[in-house]
Amino acid sequence: MNPLPENANTKSHATNFSMCVYCGSRPGVDPRFAQSARDTGSLIGSQGWELVYGGGKVGLMGMVADATLAAGGTVYGVIPQTLIDKEVGHTGLTELHVVANMHTRKTMMFERADAFLALPGGIGTFEELFEIWTWYQLGMHHKPFGLLNVAGYYDPLIAMLDSMVAQGFLNPAVRELLQVGTDVAELLQRLKGLVGKA
Ligand code: AMP
Repeated sequence: MNPLPENANTKSHATNFSMCVYCGSRPGVDPRFAQSARDTGSLIGSQGWELVYGGGKVGLMGMVADATLAAGGTVYGVIPQTLIDKEVGHTGLTELHVVANMHTRKTMMFERADAFLALPGGIGTFEELFEIWTWYQLGMHHKPFGLLNVAGYYDPLIAMLDSMVAQGFLNPAVRELLQVGTDVAELLQRLKGLVGKA
């Protein structure tokens, strides 16, 4: 089954810019992770952008959403019915879509967003980022995506990616598609600037 509709690179709503954030459903240990989530939401909201995310209230996910709303931004959440209790569906969002399954969630988030940013997180965060990346590699979209490396959390992953290139399993040009940064304000602007350029 192809999970993407034919118009996967187009948008149909009025918000000027939608940033999808993938991040942990837990807060993590280092307090800088939580701070990065709040900073991300504040920057998205203060610029009048829309946050697209998984719709939960837990962990870094909830922090990004709350900070976006507090800064005056709009938030579009998509959560599967089965995760409403576990991830505590956020009832204060601009739009919360409760959907049947994870595939629908990910497709709706993908369609709505102009760009994607991964903050620290677990395997769910990894899966979402890598799916977007592989969809790009397959020519299914041309939306930019990035990784915020907070407190060196992603250093081992970045080393692994470089090793994958060195060992011949990852095309260097595809490796370069992942926008990596440590300053969230700079990285958000970089991603926005890349929209439509690929
Ligand atoms: P985590 O990074 O593991 O804390 O998960 C963060 C987010 O990813 C949560 O919203 C999870 O529901 C979501 N997630 C977990 N598993 C998957 C998966 N297999 N595919 C896509 N998203 C997932």
